[in-house]
Amino acid sequence: ARLGSGAVTLLQAVQSVVVEHEQELGRLDAVAGDGDHGIGMRRGVDAAVQAANDASRDGAGVDQVLTAAGEAWAEKAGGTSGALWGAALCASGGALGNRESYGSADALGVAEAFSAAIIDLGKAELGDKTMVDALLPYVATFTAESQAEASVADVLTAAATAAVGAAADTAALSPRRGRARPLAERSIGHPDPGAVSFGLIAAGVARAYT
Ligand code: ADP
Ligand code: MG
Ligand code: MG
Repeated sequence: ARLGSGAVTLLQAVQSVVVEHEQELGRLDAVAGDGDHGIGMRRGVDAAVQAANDASRDGAGVDQVLTAAGEAWAEKAGGTSGALWGAALCASGGALGNRESYGSADALGVAEAFSAAIIDLGKAELGDKTMVDALLPYVATFTAESQAEASVADVLTAAATAAVGAAADTAALSPRRGRARPLAERSIGHPDPGAVSFGLIAAGVARAYT
């Protein structure tokens, strides 16, 4: 089997979620942002899947496949979320490296590397009303369930449930980062688009593994 093909499958699960929710994410970003979160995520994930497929066909391993995908996502998506998703995918590839097989400790390593890359680059803190508000509960639940030795499918499902709930809870917050900040008032009562897309994608990834 081609080493990188598992990474391609994962990215296709991300892509089908983004395609399904593209319009909804655009409308959410139009509340206080510039309305391009759906189209930006779509451009990014389409470029990432294409780059991952090309790399995988050339026999690349997981690290190279995810790195190629991350670079393509950041380049083609444009926007803040594109740079963050791109960096997170590259970091995920670095965390996995290239091996014959992977286990549950690797899954936790990816979740941590993905999250750390976004926080390093974006510098957002909990409560700033960004995707970090969904990401940190995701990683916390991921860690707790991994320590409780739940199956990877159960870990992914529990972490996704935490992310979806935390994304919905951002509706009460006032944005302190990104393009929504100047129109912070309008944003109150609506969840953060990047947090919502992360929750939806986390749920789609969990479904792909169950
Ligand atoms: P842009 O804001 O450049 O138009 P998008 O609309 O695609 O890009 O993405 C907006 C999302 O990016 C926000 O909803 C938020 O979740 C996320 N975001 C913005 N700034 C940051 C940051 N500094 N750290 C983490 N996430 C951020
Ligand atoms: Mg936007
Ligand atoms: Mg924009």
